[in-house]
Amino acid sequence: MSVECFCLTKRYGRRVALDDVSLEIGDGGVTGLIGPNGAGKSTLIKIITGLVWPTEGFVLVDGFDAHREHRKAMRRMGAIIEWPAFIPDLTARQNLDIFSGGHGAQYRARRTEILRFMELDAALDRKVGTFSTGMRQRLGITLALLPESEFIILDEPTNGLDPAGIVEIRQIIREYNRKFGVSVMVSSHLLSEVEQICDHLILIDDGRVKAWGEIGELLGEEDSMLILETDRPDEAAALLRKSAESGALPLESIDPAGGKRLRLALTGECSGAVNRLLVEAGFEVTHLALERPGLETFFLRQTTGGGESCSE
Ligand code: ADP
Ligand code: MG
Repeated sequence: MSVECFCLTKRYGRRVALDDVSLEIGDGGVTGLIGPNGAGKSTLIKIITGLVWPTEGFVLVDGFDAHREHRKAMRRMGAIIEWPAFIPDLTARQNLDIFSGGHGAQYRARRTEILRFMELDAALDRKVGTFSTGMRQRLGITLALLPESEFIILDEPTNGLDPAGIVEIRQIIREYNRKFGVSVMVSSHLLSEVEQICDHLILIDDGRVKAWGEIGELLGEEDSMLILETDRPDEAAALLRKSAESGALPLESIDPAGGKRLRLALTGECSGAVNRLLVEAGFEVTHLALERPGLETFFLRQTTGGGESCSE
C-alpha cells in the first residue's frame, strides 16, 4: 500500500504552508517526516489523511483519491494527528469503543491483540484520566491500529513524553513495523528520533521538500570524516598535509579533534592509505575510525545555506 502526493500546495490566506510537494511513501518501512516547527508536517499529514483539502494537487492512497474517495482511501490507514482527546472519566475500553466505532467479535479480538502488544491489556478498565502521558500515547497508537491498518501515520508521537517514554514509543513503532509489516510514517522535529527508527526520510522546511529518500543513501552522499589518534598528532598532520599536496591523498582538510586526535575530511575511501603512510613513517596509530555525519549535520546543511529544493 502506498501514498502518492502530486504537486501539493496549501495556502492559508497569503501564508504558504506547503509548496508544490510531490512524494511517494512506500511499502513496509518506517518513514520519518522531519522539519522544524511550522515546516508544514502537520499540514501534509492532514492532507494525506483527507482532513484538509489542498489548494492545489491531490493525493492517492492505495490508488484512491484521499479527498474524493475518502472512505475507500482511508480503509486501511490509521492516523493520530494532534493527539485525540480521550474522555478522562471513561475507561480505555469505553474510549476505544466510542472513537473507533468498532464492535463485533473480530474487532474485540484485534483490540485484545493490540492492547497486549501495547501492554495496556491490564489497564483496559481503568479510567483514562488516571493514565500517564505515555499510556495515553500508546492508547492513541492502539486507536490508529484498530481498523486493521496497513499504514499508520503518527504526528509527533513522542511530544510531551519523558526520555523513558520516548524510548518506549520508539520501540513500539519499530517493533510493530517489523512484526506486522505495517508501514509507518512518523513526524518529528527531533532528529535523533527519526534517525533511530526510520529507514526513509522526508525533510521539509518552509513547506518544501529538501530531501527525500533512504536514510543510508542520503547520508552516504555526504563526505565522511576519519578520526585518527596517534602519538605525535602535529607531526602526523604535517606529513599527511604534505602527502595531500603531492596528490597522493584525497584529503580536503585536517584539524585537531581533541587530545591526540585528528579529524580528516576525505573525498574518497583512503583510511587504509592514511594508516599505512603513518605506520611506515614510524607513528603509532592507536585509533582509526570513519565518522559518518549524523542526521543532525545533514539536516543543518539542508535547512540553512542551500535553499535548493528537490521537488520536481
Ligand atoms: P508543523 O507541523 O511542521 O509544525 P504546520 O503544518 O502545523 O507545521 O504549519 C505550517 C504552516 O502553516 C505554519 O506557518 C502554520 O502557522 C500555518 N498553518 C497551519 N495550519 C493553519 C491554519 N489552520 N490556518 C492558518 N495557518 C496555518
Ligand atoms: Mg505539527
